[in-house]
Order: sequence, then C-alpha cells, then structure tokens
Amino acid sequence: MINQRETALQIEASKSKRVVEVKWGDGHVSRYGFSLLRAACPCAGCRGGHENMRSEPDEDIFLVELGESDATMLAQIEAVGGYGIRLTWQDGHSDGIFTWHYLRELCSCAECRDEK
Ligand SMILES: [Zn+2]
Ligand SMILES: [Zn+2]
Repeated sequence: MINQRETALQIEASKSKRVVEVKWGDGHVSRYGFSLLRAACPCAGCRGGHENMRSEPDEDIFLVELGESDATMLAQIEAVGGYGIRLTWQDGHSDGIFTWHYLRELCSCAECRDEK
C-alpha cells in the first residue's frame, strides 16, 4: 500500500522566491519558505540533542522567522533512499534529513494547519 499523502511526486526549489514546492500523491501542493525549512531542520544539532529529535515538527517552529542569510539560503536538495530529502544550506549545514512524513506535517497552508 502506497501512502499517497506522503509520496512526493515533484519537488521544485525557487531561490528567487525562497520557496520549495512539493506536489504530493494525493494532489496536495505544499509550499515551504526557506526560513521555515531551516527553522525546522530535524538534525540532532538543530534540535538540541538526539533525545529531542521527533518524527513530526515542533509546533513552535511555525512561529520562527529567520532572516535572510547563508543559513536560510538553500544550496541543494538531495534524495535520500526514497524516504525523504537532505537539504544543504549555503552556510554548509547539511545534517537535516526531512522524511516525507515530517515534510508533509510541516505544510503550513491553512488547510493543513486547520487540521491541527
Ligand atoms: Zn540541522
Ligand atoms: Zn497543506
């Protein structure tokens, strides 16, 4: 059984708009600002230790607004074993692996936020 809700069909990054757009198998389209993605970096370093790593984003991430800097400029998106993507940032940080589940839960559109 394929979980269409957490199957990414297409991923596009726009450096001018500072947005990553993901089309999901169920037809939903998510748009993630670079700032949100960096604030939500799931790696142990950004989360403050392995014990704080979660399979879903913390609620307070949605309130964080990081300014424009190398830390919030996306350099590269790389597929990781079919279960997610690794994001590399202009400041060299590349520890964060975003699983499809995590990424879908991170969708900040009104529809998805209303479900919370
Ligand atoms: Zn990180
Ligand atoms: Zn959404």
